[in-house]
Amino acid sequence: MRPAFYFDEKTLWFSAGQAVLVMPVGGWLQPPSGGGHADSPEPKRRLHSLMQASGLISAFDVMTAPEATTEHLARVHPQEYLDTFKSMSDAGGGALHFSAPFGPGSYEIAALSAGLVEAAVMDVATGKRKRSYAISRPSGHHCLPDQPLGFCLFANVALAALAAKEAGIGRIAIVDWDVHHGNGTEAIFWEDPDVLTISMHQEACFPPGASGQADARGGAGAEGSAVNIPLWPGCGHDAYIAAFEKIVAPALTEFAPDMIIVVNGLDANGVDPLARMVAHSETFRAMTKSVLALADSLCDGRIVFVQEGGYAESYVPFCALAVLETLAGVRSEVEDPFLELIEAQQPGREAVAAQLAAIDALAEARPPCPSAG
Ligand SMILES: [Zn+2]
Repeated sequence: MRPAFYFDEKTLWFSAGQAVLVMPVGGWLQPPSGGGHADSPEPKRRLHSLMQASGLISAFDVMTAPEATTEHLARVHPQEYLDTFKSMSDAGGGALHFSAPFGPGSYEIAALSAGLVEAAVMDVATGKRKRSYAISRPSGHHCLPDQPLGFCLFANVALAALAAKEAGIGRIAIVDWDVHHGNGTEAIFWEDPDVLTISMHQEACFPPGASGQADARGGAGAEGSAVNIPLWPGCGHDAYIAAFEKIVAPALTEFAPDMIIVVNGLDANGVDPLARMVAHSETFRAMTKSVLALADSLCDGRIVFVQEGGYAESYVPFCALAVLETLAGVRSEVEDPFLELIEAQQPGREAVAAQLAAIDALAEARPPCPSAG
């Protein structure tokens, strides 16, 4: 059974519109060329190019999907939010939060992004495929039901997880290794003991402040169903692998999901402009290998990857390629030209020892996840 790769050129046309022109420089400096929005289409466009140039694309069934329907979007978002977003989008764009500006036509593109994720998840939920990968743009993991945030306009993964539950998937684990806290997904499932949300992120990076602290563990009746792994700025390959092995893997094993969805944000890479971590393509390859093995042992291999964050336009494609190669079980001839450089920039031995000790403490303090039945 070949994996699916859900991608649609039109999601690359999403633009933050006019609102972004003054936002990043506060009106005091000439706006950067190209609008200056960090969420450029280039990382995802270049990944698509790299898949073609490397031939890896032939290992996947390349698919698109229709825009998500209002019924689907209403699984999370109140009608009033949908109406307001749609009318502003039709009128030329704007911003319902300063961190999530959008240009004209964005409602339809955001619905397409949600539709691609829905299709990727439903293919696996209904047994049509074991593995799928979707490119989501705009992203979704920061979005709250009635509040867009951090470039996210619809809660793509949460919406798809709810659809999968309706289709009979009882327990879903969402593993979010985007460098920013998956606050939206966590909030939507805060009181749901049947959806495990795991977020490994740079501490207090985005949303700024108290979001994603280790003691945030799920609401009433769902204690342990939210797992937060706040990592210190400057963590590299060793810390990521340790956090995965000591916290993510045991939490998944305890929870025993029927399906795993990975929020494959790639912005923990060592040259990303929006965070301060030092992961590289082999970090993402290793975590992918581990999570695939867990899916095989826990849920008959059912797993979906959704690529959201990741802003280094020249490097994100190499990190994504490592994930996709692992997912397809093939290796292209592409070699990561940044790998040696980022390996040389890993934190020193004492810093790594301190990071690993902090991760051990987080692992020790984690309460058990809600078990099945
Ligand atoms: Zn991110």
